[in-house]
Amino acid sequence: ALPRDLFAPGRPNSAGLDLSNDQQLATIAAALRESVAVAWSARPSPGSDAPAQAVRNPADRRDLVGYVVEATSTQVDAALSLAHDAAASWAATSPDHRADCLMRAADLLEVRMPSLLGLIMREAGKSLPNAVAEVREAVDFLRYYAEQGRGLHAPDCAPLGVVTCISPWNFPLAIFTGQVAAALAAGNCVLAKPAEETPLIAAQAVALLHEAGVPLGVLQILPGQGAVGAQLVADARTRGVVFTGSTDVAKLIQSVLAKRLNPDGAPVPLIAETGGQNALVVDSSALTEQVVADVLVSAFDSAGQRCSALRVLCVQEEVAGRTLAMLRGALRELSIGNPDRLSVDIGPVITPEAQAGITAHIDRMRGAGFAVHHMPLPADCAEGSFVPPTIIEISDLAALTREVFGPVLHVLRYPRDGLDKLLTEINATGFALTFGLHTRIDETVARVISQARAGNIYVNRNLIGAVVGVQPFGGHGLSGTGPKAGGPLYLRRLLSKLPAEAGF
Ligand code: GLU
Repeated sequence: ALPRDLFAPGRPNSAGLDLSNDQQLATIAAALRESVAVAWSARPSPGSDAPAQAVRNPADRRDLVGYVVEATSTQVDAALSLAHDAAASWAATSPDHRADCLMRAADLLEVRMPSLLGLIMREAGKSLPNAVAEVREAVDFLRYYAEQGRGLHAPDCAPLGVVTCISPWNFPLAIFTGQVAAALAAGNCVLAKPAEETPLIAAQAVALLHEAGVPLGVLQILPGQGAVGAQLVADARTRGVVFTGSTDVAKLIQSVLAKRLNPDGAPVPLIAETGGQNALVVDSSALTEQVVADVLVSAFDSAGQRCSALRVLCVQEEVAGRTLAMLRGALRELSIGNPDRLSVDIGPVITPEAQAGITAHIDRMRGAGFAVHHMPLPADCAEGSFVPPTIIEISDLAALTREVFGPVLHVLRYPRDGLDKLLTEINATGFALTFGLHTRIDETVARVISQARAGNIYVNRNLIGAVVGVQPFGGHGLSGTGPKAGGPLYLRRLLSKLPAEAGF
């Protein structure tokens, strides 16, 4: 019953930039220099006189990226009223009109990519390739949900009304835009609460959607701390919530929403995408060079700040020594530092608090007697929140009590006859987001993927960078509610009435 045509070969994803092309790199470098001179800002859509707060670059706290004005509770209330009042007219627009707005926004994003890259790199500490991937994914979400939304005609389908979108700092453009685009395509008004760490890029996305034709009352941004999200979620005018962030906050949102029903008598829908304790299992038939390349990307790309990132590498005992030796050698080849050096592989973690938390975990593990390996930090890291890519050898999965959201890879050896027990233990963490397997034995592939509990399972490749419309992304259990982002079922959770013929 899935609308398979959305996966048809030939539906183009965004092309991005050729970073091996010197001319393109020169354009980017120029755009980066220009971005430093721009006075970036974010403020609540209804306007505000509140004092602005500085937003700083996590790679170098001396670099002032822009200013944010956080929404007051009165402004949140006013935004809810405005959205509530705009809901009927937006719902009455044709699905094609809404889709056309999103398609225009996608085109604008592609054109503005060079100037936005600098902002993403400076506000979120992303490397250049990661920043390019951010814009591409945002463009893909816009086009993918726009195309899906075209089929949602009244009276077969009805939007929810006002949807609150709460997004994370680790994908400040892609996930922010994805949530908003899906809710808009389904005919809802949106109140978007960006992560407190990354309001500036979110404000750019909103400005661009307005420019593309989305009315001001239909999409409003409310920068602020957790209290803004809490107020939005608790308000009965919010008829659906899309959240990406921690498992704890998702549970809190769920408990608040459980206290009321929507006017149609249904529970308030929640789409939550949360964390993972993601494992990669490597048996003795795997190709070690490929394993090492995939592990480096899975664990350390984006400084490990992806919910899809690899947290535990489980290697069969017979090949563990040589895999670890190669990994440690490869670790020394990574370049870490301020992404304004365009060749940098790994940037900072998002805040000094995050840096302190991850460092405390590493120290605790060292104190507990586990072997810890990391590369030294270069001198130019002193002004930012950097954590060196780190490998910790553990002897038991029980050593991991929580998700460590940074460049820390745990390595566990398992005996040749211990695969079933290992899979049981991985599943027992309760998380179910990404899972990887490296093996060259077909029977092992079949057996392991039938047992592994995860939303996205990757075989003989890395665990990150799910592509919109090709690899729908999301988990279950402690990792989220589904439906998967960038997949054919996502929009349906944002409707109060589903088309009968859809078959699900
Ligand atoms: N979709 C991203 C990936 O596949 C992860 C999203 C997240 O970290 O929230 O790497």
